[in-house]
Amino acid sequence: MKLSELFTKTSKQMPSDEQSVSAQLLERAGYINKEAAGVYSLLPLGLRVINNITNIIRQEMDAVGGQEILMSGLIPKSNLEQTGRWESFEALYRLKGADDKEYGLGATHEEIISPLVKKYVQSYRDLPVAIYQIQDKFRNEIRAKSGVLRTREFLMKDLYSFHADQEGLDKYYEQVKEAYWKIFERCVIKDKTYLTLASGGTFSKYSHEFQTETEAGEDEIYVCKSCRIGLNKEILEGEYECPECKNREHEVKKTIEVGNIFKLGTKYSKPFELNFVDQSGKPQPVIMGCYGIGLQRLMGAIVEVYHDEKGIVWPNNEIAPFVAHLIELKVESGRPAELGMEGPKGKGQNTADEIYNQLLEAGIEVLYDDREDISAGEKFADADLLGIPCRLVISEKTGDKVEIKNRSKDQTELVPKEELISKLRT
Ligand code: ATP
Ligand code: MG
Repeated sequence: MKLSELFTKTSKQMPSDEQSVSAQLLERAGYINKEAAGVYSLLPLGLRVINNITNIIRQEMDAVGGQEILMSGLIPKSNLEQTGRWESFEALYRLKGADDKEYGLGATHEEIISPLVKKYVQSYRDLPVAIYQIQDKFRNEIRAKSGVLRTREFLMKDLYSFHADQEGLDKYYEQVKEAYWKIFERCVIKDKTYLTLASGGTFSKYSHEFQTETEAGEDEIYVCKSCRIGLNKEILEGEYECPECKNREHEVKKTIEVGNIFKLGTKYSKPFELNFVDQSGKPQPVIMGCYGIGLQRLMGAIVEVYHDEKGIVWPNNEIAPFVAHLIELKVESGRPAELGMEGPKGKGQNTADEIYNQLLEAGIEVLYDDREDISAGEKFADADLLGIPCRLVISEKTGDKVEIKNRSKDQTELVPKEELISKLRT
């Protein structure tokens, strides 16, 4: 993509109403646009990152047998009444339809998935089954001050699993836990993320949260110095003692919950009479688990972990909106436009256009700063703000080579253009 054609622009102005670094940088760089408190649009660069994250999550959910669907965003009031959540779910947006019917705007989807699965699952032979979606969720959050980390509308991957017995759920739960670690490893935040015990399990004492350490985090967790398991401060009763290894030494960390997994048991199957006939012919309630990840929050958490004073530093090519950021510096002042056409090009001199096309042909995602009348300093500053992993510079000085610089490092290297592609693929 050519930067001259991208409709968004970077801004030097720090947004005055954003407290988290991730929202400040994502807004300034043109990844997101704030529409209202806790309400953001995804712009081309931001959507590319979200699509990259989506691909990772989709692959890992498919790998644990998840079947992808897309549920309705409108949830009939009667479904929510069946579980009592029409009344009890504080953050639910409640709407009145033209037919005077009322709806909840999807904040979570147990009330759709349970009756849906009931339609198709009747026998133990139909179980287990795991179903997920990636969809916009709506929550009327009271505090929405942390940029994309806590919003009123956000994409969530929500997976629901259905089992004939507790053992089946326990086994699958561990598989999803592993899949989550793979996702967070591919998002390069695994080392900063703690498996954390929290209240909320229905069949088990605890549910598990994946909590990533960041200054902007809204949660506080106690991390055991011995086994490194986290415990959410909210549930802590009395003196700290590690629930796993009984150790008392701990560190307190500020974190943000990027994902969580729950054993729901029969909490939602019972109200919907989601039953199956077991091997002895007896009806039994289906046992359920649910597993969530917030996509914009995950993007925000990555930026919280990976940035410096100049901007975002995307940690790998899989997440970054582009792999390479190609910059052309004009050869002579006052003659910017011709370069790359016939231009004042020396013998053997590369043109950025040539390199751009070469990269496109090789299938390398490249953002090409072909803007005219923009100083070298501004182009470099924008490259640092956008945070694309590899910066490529072509100028009169680089001759028949290309200057390469990794966003996270200071040193530059001159590479012959024949070696460029293989270099970018490593
Ligand atoms: P939190 O404790 O942060 O309020 P939650 O426990 O309500 O979140 P779930 O309802 O289980 O979270 O949602 C699953 C995932 O969706 C969370 O782990 C988080 O990644 C994301 N998420 C939840 N609420 C928000 C929000 N308001 N903004 C952005 N992401 C969210
Ligand atoms: Mg939570």
